[in-house]
Amino acid sequence: MSNPILTQTSYLIAAALFILALKWLNAPKTARKGVWAGEIGMAAAIVGTLLLPEIKAFHWIVLTLLVGAGIGIPIALLMPMTAVPQRTALSHCFGGLAAGLVGTAEYYLARSQHGGHLDHFTSGVLALEVLLGYLTFTGSLMAFGKLQGILPSRPITYKGQNFVNLGILAMAALIGIALAIDPTQAGLAGGVVGQLMFPLLILLALLFGVFLIIPIGGADMPTVISLLNSYAGLSASAMGFVLDNKLLIIAGALDGSSGFILSVIMCKAMNRSFTNVLFGAFGQVQTAVAGKVEAKPVRSAQPDEAAAILGMAQSVVIIPGYGMAVAQAQHKVRDLCDQLTKRGVDVRFGIHPVAGRMPGHMNVLLAEADIPYERLLEMDEINPDMPQVDVALVIGANDVTNPAARHDKSSPIYGMPIIDVDKARTVMVIKRGMSAGFAGIENELYHMEKTLMLFGDAKQYVGEMVKELASGD
Ligand code: NDP
Repeated sequence: MSNPILTQTSYLIAAALFILALKWLNAPKTARKGVWAGEIGMAAAIVGTLLLPEIKAFHWIVLTLLVGAGIGIPIALLMPMTAVPQRTALSHCFGGLAAGLVGTAEYYLARSQHGGHLDHFTSGVLALEVLLGYLTFTGSLMAFGKLQGILPSRPITYKGQNFVNLGILAMAALIGIALAIDPTQAGLAGGVVGQLMFPLLILLALLFGVFLIIPIGGADMPTVISLLNSYAGLSASAMGFVLDNKLLIIAGALDGSSGFILSVIMCKAMNRSFTNVLFGAFGQVQTAVAGKVEAKPVRSAQPDEAAAILGMAQSVVIIPGYGMAVAQAQHKVRDLCDQLTKRGVDVRFGIHPVAGRMPGHMNVLLAEADIPYERLLEMDEINPDMPQVDVALVIGANDVTNPAARHDKSSPIYGMPIIDVDKARTVMVIKRGMSAGFAGIENELYHMEKTLMLFGDAKQYVGEMVKELASGD
């Protein structure tokens, strides 16, 4: 039941929905709508493609759909929120593999269908697509392994590494150029070498993906995943040119550019450059600085004391971080917010752009707990108010509150914008002990006169404070 007009209409709807999805995903308030728009857009794209006249049999498509759903559904249901970065890496890994496989199939199909001849453009674009697709596949697998703890998360470096990496990339690029100039390379050693060129390109792309990621520390993986996302998008866009599929070109370009923009935003929020993330072996700096930590005194408090201080405050700003995600404390935090609001305390949340392990990590968790969006303020909005805030309550955040980022030039986080927690009248920090955060460095905030350390698991500690406040009703 093929129908080109229906296909084009579905593609148009899908393209518009993809653009709207990206726009809506920009703000917590509209994010759910954005997810729906993306899902409906993808459904429209699939239906439109199934209506294409060149699709004659559906059994292979149904089988692959079942395999895809069989992998995708358990990943989505079983992986916890704290494992969102690894989950995203896995999705990109499959996206890259799909792009690579489709490109390979197209190359050999085109050669067999046109008497062994391919035009220069198609061949060149296929080479680019296969290179990006396969390197995204192995690169994302490496990123997954590092984040999941299957591979060592520290940067794996050796002498001459950049030379090896650039060598592999240069060889792959040369093969791609050679294939664009002479797509079959039939004249090379009676065609034998020519036949090996495409498989060699695949091998080099797979290798490059591995070699590109192993020198990067696990800590920088979210940024790298976002960059790989951009490669997978570009690969899909190249495929769109080969298949003459305009929706694939649009969707790939949106994916490619948004992934790239997100990587830039993340680098900016951490005050790092792209080259530093990709080639800087960040972890080595962290170890050196972590070695300087000295034991200094801290003041601590019990849940009943902390609850009493919060209950007496007029304004409280909660700064959540990775520890809140680990503890899954968001629902208890919501209860705390309700208890304090009931007492007339003005409760707001200060959200740092890289708190947690993925952009928007805190927004997602707080939205899950139904905390009203208007209470969530971005770093730039909340910082000017911090000196007037009675209590800044830090829940499982560390680096994003470290004042060293403002003044200590030797700190690996120097220059990273932070939430000015230290400017509040009183600071309370919930964490289990004195362990460092992601950057592996000491936080001078914990040793300030006005800081009270609330040692414990975030969910448990906040739960106890809620009980205290409720018992005082
Ligand atoms: P951090 O990783 O700096 O600190 C988290 C803190 O949470 C730890 O110090 C830990 O201390 C505490 N913690 C862990 N488990 C629990 C628990 N169950 N209960 C209470 N506390 C707990 O997190 P931040 O959110 O402050 O900073 C994010 C870091 O990640 C930044 O350095 C950022 O650059 C980096 N990053 C973020 C990305 C993003 O997109 N969001 C991407 C890439 C990197 P203790 O063990 O003592 O409890």
